[in-house]
Amino acid sequence: MNIPREEIPWYPTIDQGLCINCGVCIEFCAHGVYALDDVQTRVVAPFNCVVGCTGCETLCTPGAIRFPDMGEFMLRLHELRVQYER
Ligand code: SF4
Ligand code: SF4
Repeated sequence: MNIPREEIPWYPTIDQGLCINCGVCIEFCAHGVYALDDVQTRVVAPFNCVVGCTGCETLCTPGAIRFPDMGEFMLRLHELRVQYER
């Protein structure tokens, strides 16, 4: 695909109200998507996330990690494919 990664809206977000800063997501993700700043675990490199991966989501016991709705995401991806295959 010729779609720039930054155009593809696939990456996790953290509900900071649920996150307990356990560090599991930081340790698990090999792509450096997460990091701990002074006080809080944050998504620091969203576009390093592998498109379609949700590996870290189930490991987050408080359920603080969210991904886009898959149906909406697939529709958007289809639009991007049409746009970039012209
Ligand atoms: S695994 Fe979940 S609770 Fe733990 S630091 Fe990551 S987002 Fe926060
Ligand atoms: S979904 Fe996969 S690539 Fe994306 S942040 Fe989680 S473990 Fe890393």
